[in-house]
Amino acid sequence: EIALVWFRRDLRDYDHAALYHALKSARRVFCVFVFDRDILDPLPRQDRRVEFLHGSIGELAGALRARGGGLIVRHGRPHEEIPRLAVALGAGTVFANRDYEPAAITRDELVAQALAESGVAFRATKDQAVFDGDEVLTQGGAPFSVFTPYKNAWLKRLAAPGGDFYLRPYPTEGAAFGTLAAPPADLDQPLPSLADLGFAPTNLADLKVLPGMAGARARLADFLPRLARYKALRDFPGVKGVSYLSVHLRFGTLSIRELAGLAWRDGSEGAQAWLNELIWRDFYFMILARHPRVVGACFRPEYDALAWDEGPDADERFAAWCAGRTGYPLVDAAQRQLNQTGYMHNRLRMVSASFLTKDLGIDWRRGEAYFAEQLIDFDLAANNGGWQWAASTGCDAQPYFRIFNPVTQSEKFDPEGHFIRRYVPELATVPAKYLHAPWTMGPLVQEACEVKIGRDYPAPVVDHASARETTLARFAAVKGAA
Ligand code: FAD
Repeated sequence: EIALVWFRRDLRDYDHAALYHALKSARRVFCVFVFDRDILDPLPRQDRRVEFLHGSIGELAGALRARGGGLIVRHGRPHEEIPRLAVALGAGTVFANRDYEPAAITRDELVAQALAESGVAFRATKDQAVFDGDEVLTQGGAPFSVFTPYKNAWLKRLAAPGGDFYLRPYPTEGAAFGTLAAPPADLDQPLPSLADLGFAPTNLADLKVLPGMAGARARLADFLPRLARYKALRDFPGVKGVSYLSVHLRFGTLSIRELAGLAWRDGSEGAQAWLNELIWRDFYFMILARHPRVVGACFRPEYDALAWDEGPDADERFAAWCAGRTGYPLVDAAQRQLNQTGYMHNRLRMVSASFLTKDLGIDWRRGEAYFAEQLIDFDLAANNGGWQWAASTGCDAQPYFRIFNPVTQSEKFDPEGHFIRRYVPELATVPAKYLHAPWTMGPLVQEACEVKIGRDYPAPVVDHASARETTLARFAAVKGAA
């Protein structure tokens, strides 16, 4: 029996469910990756994710070659490329790891259908989440829609006898396994360069974002000594408190089972807090899989009726938010971090998303789409969940009147202004006392620090207190109508 493993967002050759199942059931196993034109063609020609992906594929191909196999790489459409290749190789089954995004599900259905027409089976298994499907349900057997009870049930499932099975790695080498097969010469093609794919390099290397399993290992090694302090430091964007592993989780250059296992066994306060975040990741995969309507619509349908600000001013304010020129330093620093690096700290994602939706009154879908373009770790499930959480249209136990104050958030989470000064250098000379609300500087202070508000840095685009009232009224109107 011959099998084909189709890699997608799982770019590693160890602890890999699809590779495990293929090697267990087949004598010879080929591997393939398709640079998907349907995904790549609409993207801007400079995209950090494509460069990261390209580097990771190069590394994976080398790793598979070193084990006697190799990676067949195609640039095309999976429903054409995968069946053609499976037939040419004589594969009986194509193995892949399950994806929860509606577009990916449709793609996989198309591929499965085309394969079936040639008598080839398609088998997709869980790999990217610890639990999925029916594995974590309420006592009544329904899916959860609120995080905390979901988390408790998730942890209970893991703690139950045999629960550690879910964190066990899927080995990809062993006596009982088939072997990786090198691509036949007539089907092998050199790895296309980034330029062949139609993309130009970005600042990824300057940012020291290393792709692949090696990049993931380096970041994990850097984070593990900091794990115990995660809870204490995770909310401060000016401090190295978080793992920065999201891009690797996005592309599967490391295994979620390995990370969750590390945190689970460590058990320290920091590790528990970090595990909590990994559970959020599973939670949003589950929400997306169960409620695909959240793509484009509110998780709570009553909020589809919210009247977002769509006037001509809104476009201008949206542009100011995108560019980091709102006059609120923490929000601006956050947006500039995103634009310059493709990453934004979690506390800032919450602050910035709250600002767009609750201070500027702009539809969360516009912000979601902007993040989706910019984030190197962009993940539909987490991004959509995060935006709906911040906009109060999603799975949050908190009511809509929890509105972040961008000034107090700034005072609390960047008290000395280290982060703000890094990304908003025109405010570098502003005393800490005024940095969080620089428009409160009197003319003498402005003169002393040589920063004139309105000339060197924008005046606030909106007044938080009155925007808050408008938002409360916007939500109350929908509540009243319901
Ligand atoms: P750590 O704090 O070290 O957390 C470890 C891992 O847990 C992360 O890498 C991530 O995989 C997962 N995680 C952490 N928080 C969340 C969360 N709230 N939801 C789901 N998974 C989480 N995360 C993405 O991976 N992609 C996105 O597109 C994305 N968009 C977001 C948009 C908004 C508006 C908000 C509020 C959050 C978003 N997040 C997203 C979640 C979170 O901000 C990032 O995962 C985190 O900042 C990544 O940094 P890290 O790897 O250092 O995280």
